[in-house]
Amino acid sequence: MSIRRSRLAPSPTGALHLGNACSFLINWALARKNDWELILRMEDLVGPRINLSSIESTQAILSWLGIDWDGETLLQSQDLSPYKDGLDTLISHSQIYHCNLTRKEIEQAASAPHADDPFGKHVIRPKDVQTHNSNWNNEPTNWRFIVHDRQHVLKDELLGKKQFDHLNDFVVWTKNDMPAYQLAVVIDDARQNVTDVIRGHDLLESAAWQSQIYTALGLKEPTWWHLPLVIGEDGLRLAKRHGDTRLLTYFNNGMQPEKIIGLIAKWCNMTTLHETLSTSEFLHGFDIHQLNKDDIVFTKEDEQWLLG
Ligand code: GLU
Repeated sequence: MSIRRSRLAPSPTGALHLGNACSFLINWALARKNDWELILRMEDLVGPRINLSSIESTQAILSWLGIDWDGETLLQSQDLSPYKDGLDTLISHSQIYHCNLTRKEIEQAASAPHADDPFGKHVIRPKDVQTHNSNWNNEPTNWRFIVHDRQHVLKDELLGKKQFDHLNDFVVWTKNDMPAYQLAVVIDDARQNVTDVIRGHDLLESAAWQSQIYTALGLKEPTWWHLPLVIGEDGLRLAKRHGDTRLLTYFNNGMQPEKIIGLIAKWCNMTTLHETLSTSEFLHGFDIHQLNKDDIVFTKEDEQWLLG
């Protein structure tokens, strides 16, 4: 039987917070319970480049929580050639087209009715992609992926079948001459042999797009697991307004990591009361099927318990 493999893929754009701890711990526990491998990849193509110390601090936070991973950590920005190869393949398949329109210009084009496309959705897509691409002057430009079928059904292990009805062409390469997230993540998951993608459901629609890239490149799509997000009592995603939930702050203030693990265990319906838990106790009691489908609310009581 071939090995299954999952990945932790933090972006350095924001410091890791409680929501990240929750999805990373679930990801880790699912992998470890099932004898899958788990790799760590630093996704630093969007936003500031990271240096050695921010990789080390991410690794230190994960280790502090008792989360371990297998093998070397991949840093995306270190070598762009795998993404460039993906771009070249998509160009050679006429699966993408260059397009320098701004977002605003695209919106305007899309809202104007057009004879061939009364809804105006595809008005920016060239009719003859091959000829259009052969006129490219080699200047950095946005490259957009052609979504042939705007309807897409995605099978998710936790959420079941999800249907998307209006997928539009999307950017896979930006005019800063950098791979866009959608392309980079597919290239990396494929070359790192990731079989299971476990992450927050804010990336569910991205999975529909990514699925189209897998097909276009003739790659095998991973199994998708989209997790509930951690939100505040106001229903909004965890952010500064909900207090300082950065793991680094907790770490610097000398918080016991067992408190965070215990809180996540409660969120995963493993316990009913606030109690401390070790990572190995968490692993022992964890069952992915006990997770709620709804988002997880970080309450005032949770905060008081954590900081108390
Ligand atoms: N790097 C992304 C993030 O931190 C996650 C991407 C993914 O899991 O596909 O939001």
